[in-house]
Amino acid sequence: MTLLENARQRTVTREMTCVAQNEKVDVDYLLKKIAAGEVVIPANPRHKNLHPMGIGRCLKIKINANIGTSQVDCALERELQKLELCIKHKADAVMDLSTGGKLDDIRTSIIHHSPLPVGTVPIYHVMVENKKIKDVTAAQIFATIEKHGRQGVDFITVHCGVTKRIVPLIEKRVAGVVSRGGSFLAKWIMVNNQENPLFEHFDELLDIAHEYDMTLSLGDGLRPGAIADASDQAQITELQVLGELTERAWARGVQVMIEGPGHVPLNLIQENMELQQKYCHNAPFYVLGPLVTDVAPGYDHITSAIGGALAAFYGAAFLCYVTPAEHLRLPTLEDVKDGIIASRIAAHAADIAKGNQEALSWDLQMSQKRKALDWDGMIGLAMDPEKAKRYRQESGLPESQDACTMCGDLCAMKMIEETL
Ligand code: SF4
Repeated sequence: MTLLENARQRTVTREMTCVAQNEKVDVDYLLKKIAAGEVVIPANPRHKNLHPMGIGRCLKIKINANIGTSQVDCALERELQKLELCIKHKADAVMDLSTGGKLDDIRTSIIHHSPLPVGTVPIYHVMVENKKIKDVTAAQIFATIEKHGRQGVDFITVHCGVTKRIVPLIEKRVAGVVSRGGSFLAKWIMVNNQENPLFEHFDELLDIAHEYDMTLSLGDGLRPGAIADASDQAQITELQVLGELTERAWARGVQVMIEGPGHVPLNLIQENMELQQKYCHNAPFYVLGPLVTDVAPGYDHITSAIGGALAAFYGAAFLCYVTPAEHLRLPTLEDVKDGIIASRIAAHAADIAKGNQEALSWDLQMSQKRKALDWDGMIGLAMDPEKAKRYRQESGLPESQDACTMCGDLCAMKMIEETL
């Protein structure tokens, strides 16, 4: 029985108890939200060392970090180091997006070492193994998905909404298709003049997801990859298809998230979040950014954190990090850390605005330490204590100095404290 089916039967599983404790919510409340499809706990029973985590807009906002090799940079050791960084800097989930090296070995190793839920995009594996798109069969795609389930993958991105009817809409776009999986399937549809197998044989996909209790992350293969394409017909039509598929997955007892944009200007973010809730029946929204401008390569962890904070405030539940390397190269270890921290800031900002008590309390404690000029306390509470400590040390002041080099003797905190 899947986690969703258990929730419907009001059976509390270990995963639910664990998530309820972490989120400090009543387990009955959580059970109802899972049963309604508003919360998912991606947890493949074959992922043995998993520390379960819940995703839903009624819970704290979660973040995902993408790791994985490419065909020109494929060292497993470095990807495992990235995984360590993800754990250390408190990402909530990781996706292995590897396309280079021994994919099965890399994936199983990441799952083995990860207490975080692990997601994959099985179509990448299919793409790597089949150079001729035209010859790829539905059977190959489903065999790969089944293998990922058997290996213990907790959630999979599947671009089921890239359909024959929608593909022609791509031609109107500035940036075409920017999702690797989406472009593969769009091309497959065009060269074979057939329907997307993931859409046409969706029930087969559900059988596999049900067997391994894998959460489906219904991918936005046609997400806008340019501000000029935001909220266009291709994006919104695909979203409507994903909404229909969500109901079919729920009917089969399979948990679902919906993936979202992409590049979206600030003024369209609220509308995007509301449309998703309307079309996809409040299934958790997993957004890839959104990046609020196209013109800052090298700083896209910032463009996406701005969009992610607003998206999460208006209804997204899960933010996929974006690193400074986005659009430029495979992320380094430093890029991964910067991406995680930026995304955590966005998630936390939304948690504060949504009134999460734990988030508010964290900020209050930091403010109190600041007022007390308690530097150790401030560093201990910082989202990135290592960087905060390094900056303080690099200022060259003795440890005993209470003010910092910003104002020195004119320290506002100190002046008022002495006067009071
Ligand atoms: S010196 Fe200025 S910036 Fe530094 S702690 Fe005092 S008020 Fe804050």
